This record gives sequence, C-alpha cells and structure tokens, in this order.
Amino acid sequence: MNLTLEREWSLFRDWCEATDIDAVPAGRTAVAAFMATFPAAPSTWRRRIQAIRGGLEEAGYSLDWAKPAVASVFREGERWATARQAIAQLPTVRFPTGLRGRRDAWLVLLVGELGFTRREAQQITETDISLFPELTIRGRTVHRAEDPAECPRCAATRWLRVYGPAAFGFSNETKEILNPWGETPGVHDCSVGLDGVWRVAETRSPVTTMMPSVDVHGWLGTEAALSLTSISKIVHDAQRITSTREVVVRGPVRRYTADEQKQMSHELADELDDVNEQLDALFALTKQLLDDTKDAIGL
Ligand SMILES: [Zn+2]
Repeated sequence: MNLTLEREWSLFRDWCEATDIDAVPAGRTAVAAFMATFPAAPSTWRRRIQAIRGGLEEAGYSLDWAKPAVASVFREGERWATARQAIAQLPTVRFPTGLRGRRDAWLVLLVGELGFTRREAQQITETDISLFPELTIRGRTVHRAEDPAECPRCAATRWLRVYGPAAFGFSNETKEILNPWGETPGVHDCSVGLDGVWRVAETRSPVTTMMPSVDVHGWLGTEAALSLTSISKIVHDAQRITSTREVVVRGPVRRYTADEQKQMSHELADELDDVNEQLDALFALTKQLLDDTKDAIGL
C-alpha cells in the first residue's frame, strides 16, 4: 500500500478502535457505518474502499462483499426487484416487445443472478455457454426456479431460442416463437429442447454480439454490444417494481447534468457512471445497515 492508502487505512482502524469494533476482519456493516460517519467526495470513497480492501488483504482477509455490493450495477433492497422478480416482470411474448424483454431478462440473469460485471455481460459469447451436463455460463451454474416465470434457466433458454432466428432476420420464425398463443402456462421453457441456430448466429449472421440492441421494428443491432450506460439503464428499469413504479424514491446520489456530461469524454463519463453506481450501492447499503448497527457503534 502507498502512503495515501496507508493513511486511509489507519483512519479506518482508529475509527474502529474508537467505536469498539474490530477492524480486522471488518464486515460490511462496519465499512458502511464508517462511510456514513465521514461524508466525502466520490474519489475519496473509492480510495477508502481500496485502502480497507488492501489492509484486510494484508491481514489475510478479503473484503468479499465489495465486489457485488460496490462494483455491481445491480441494486439491493426492498425498493428494488430481485433478479428473479425482475425476470418475472419482463415481457416474454409478442413482437417486438417480447424480443426486447427476453434480451433484458438475459442481461438481468447475467448481471443480477450470476454476478457478472457489465463489461463481462457485453463480452459473453456462445463459447462461454454450456448446455450439458447442466446450463453454465463461464462456469457459473444457471439454476432452475420452481416458478417458470422467475426461473433463471428459462430466462437463458428464452433468449437463446429467439436470438438465433432474430439475428439472421428470420422474422416469421422469430414471431412464431414470440406468439403469445404458443406458450403453455406452467411449462418451463428450460425443459424444451433448443436447436443450434443461436450457436452459429454470432459468427455467421450480421449480428456480432449476444448483447445486441433491439430497434422498434424488432431488428437486432449489427453494431457492437450495448454500451455500459445502456446496460445500466436497462438493469435499473428492470429492477423497478412495476406496481410501485411511480413512488420509487431516488437515492441521495448527485446526478451530472446534461451539460456536464457533454463536456466529458466518453471514457470519463463511463468512469463517473461507475462511481455513481458504486455510491448508489454504498448509500443503499449504508442506509440499510445503519439501523442495525446504531446501538453497537453509538451513532
Ligand atoms: Zn425453467
């Protein structure tokens, strides 16, 4: 650790000592409470997390919650749908609504259920997917849920089923798959066999990614995968609980104005997007955990 990180790490240790909690190994509760005690700029938050992670690693512990809680675009808390609830909310039939809904559910599956980052979600290709002996994506098992509507494995097969024909522009076949009268309620899509069209689509069709955009006419984009910003937006929208969509309260994170965004390079905008997401996650975590720890740390 460099000197700046050392300083942040000892600030954390001192605070832990003063509040009578163990710095090593520190749990997410301690870190969240620490964050709440010392409000700071995004860059400082990021540096502190890095310092705490470094300090713990030196002591032989990992800040193992940091990846899902800090780096993920996926939100946690009762205001947000879980991955499986989000999958159940998304449309799976009708053209082109169901096509986009299936693409969105595929994304929610990758990011929310399997814990891939947005960048990894952009890069997943057919070679990352195994169907036998069980469905895995980059070695992570896609589980089956009791209810077909929220079944993660169904979310995967529903997308694979339609992605192939849609990528080749076989619109009759695509529409047939999305025909609302074709679905038998209560039957798992993941128990119905898949043909191999999706396997060859990425290399032989004009669509070069498994994470394509879907236009209003139901055509898949032939350009690169969805951008990180689009992925964030889709995931956040999918996590809004449909019945309470209008009363969703935003977290206390500062959003950048359109003018500010314009001045930044694309890379910088993505960077800030990442920081905002980390802050969103941290604030949500802090809020959720502070009540539990108030007594313990005398806040
Ligand atoms: Zn299923």
